Amino acid sequence: MSRMSDIIATCKTIEHQLRKYRLWANLVPRSSWFVSLYRLLPRREWDIIRKAAYAHYGHKCAICGMSDTTLSGHEDWEYDYDHSTQRLVGVLALCHLCHMCNHLGLANIQAGEGKLDYSELVAHWCQVNSADEEEFTSHSDYAFKLWELRNEFEWQLVGPSKEPISQDTTADDVLGGLWKQ
Ligand SMILES: [Zn+2]
Repeated sequence: MSRMSDIIATCKTIEHQLRKYRLWANLVPRSSWFVSLYRLLPRREWDIIRKAAYAHYGHKCAICGMSDTTLSGHEDWEYDYDHSTQRLVGVLALCHLCHMCNHLGLANIQAGEGKLDYSELVAHWCQVNSADEEEFTSHSDYAFKLWELRNEFEWQLVGPSKEPISQDTTADDVLGGLWKQ
């Protein structure tokens, strides 16, 4: 097997393991950090998208169901390793802790700066997944391993209907494809 097909196979195996958790760190590859919808689109368009997500999920966290909390719009991406395509498959309304579990690299940084109580995050992850801290640590190790491997690809970002994402993407483009409105 070539090096790249080796990497693709490993990515699929790790992701399959991580997907058994309801809440897991689906880490965005480095090259895609600055081309998210949040970064790319005019603020007005992103606000329409995230507010539509809050309404879609009944103003509750899409993962743990928490209500009466500040929600964030979270871009849910799916990675097609065979075609190096990173496709937007959802915009989730997430509570702060579920959101930080998804952005575990940022969570580590914020915990180091005293801005986030990491033990609270771990406890939340364990509760949502009915799992223990040992499993959290193992999940975290695999998530960062997967992130390193995802960094080996040149990702093409596409919308729900596989249209390329650019600054000209509108909230209508995204929402129409996501929830078939
Ligand atoms: Zn939550």
